[in-house]
Amino acid sequence: MSAVEVQESIQIPAREGRGVQLKAGQRFRCIDVEGKQCGDLFAFCSDNVREYHSAEHTRVWNDNLFPRVGEQFVTNRRRPILTFLADDTPGRHDMLIAACDPTRFELLGCEGWHASCQENLQKVMAGFGHEDIEIPQPINVFTNLPVGADGSLSWEPALTKAGAVVLGVSKDSIASHCKFRDKFKLNFALLSDPDGKVLEAYGAWGDKVMYGKKMKGIIRSTVLIDKDGKVVKHWPKVSVKGHAEEVIETVKALA
Ligand SMILES: [Zn+2]
Repeated sequence: MSAVEVQESIQIPAREGRGVQLKAGQRFRCIDVEGKQCGDLFAFCSDNVREYHSAEHTRVWNDNLFPRVGEQFVTNRRRPILTFLADDTPGRHDMLIAACDPTRFELLGCEGWHASCQENLQKVMAGFGHEDIEIPQPINVFTNLPVGADGSLSWEPALTKAGAVVLGVSKDSIASHCKFRDKFKLNFALLSDPDGKVLEAYGAWGDKVMYGKKMKGIIRSTVLIDKDGKVVKHWPKVSVKGHAEEVIETVKALA
C-alpha cells in the first residue's frame, strides 16, 4: 500500500450517487465494498461542465475499448481529465454502455419509478449548482461486458471480490443515531442496541476505568465477520489512528 493520506471517505448507498470536487493532482479511489457491484463514473471540468470525460474520445485516445492502468481518460475536447493509476480488481471495466435512465427501466418493464444512474448524476450535479448538464457515457467501473468476435456484447457478473459491509452498533436510540449520522454525514448503517445484548455478545460492553472509577461502558471494538457468519477477527480497545486501514487490509486478505 502506498502511503497516501485519505482525506475523505464517501460511502455510496445502493442506487444513489455522490460527487466530489477534486483539484488537479488529487486522487480518488473506487472501492467495491460488497463485491460484484458496478458503478457509473463521470468526470466534469468544474469551471466548465460542458467539458467532461468522454468515453468515445477516450477510446480513440488509447486505441482501446476498455480502461487500462496507465492510460488517460480524455474529455470531449480531447484533453486528459483523469489518469488510471492503479487497479487491484481483476481489471474489468466497461466504456461502451450508456448510463441507465428512466426510459431504460420502463422498457425493461419496471413498474413505477426506479433509481437510475442518469437521475443520480443529475441530482449530484444540481447539488454543485449545475441544473442543466449533458449525460456523458460513463466509465462503468467493475462492469464486465466482454465483446465477442462477432461484435456481440454479453452481460457478465462483475469479477470484483468483496470489500466489506460496515455497521456501527451502540446503545444510543435510533433518533440519536439519525442525528449523529446527519451531523457527520455517515451513510453506513448504525444499529441501535438499547439493552446492550449485541454489544455484550461481541465483547464491546464491560468494565472500564473512567475518571479513575471502574464502571461499565462501551469498549470500542471492531469485529470482522466473514460471509459464513463466522467471526474471523476481533480488535478489542481500538484506537482510531490507522485502524480502518488495518481492517481493510484484513478484509482484502480474506477475499
Ligand atoms: Zn446504472
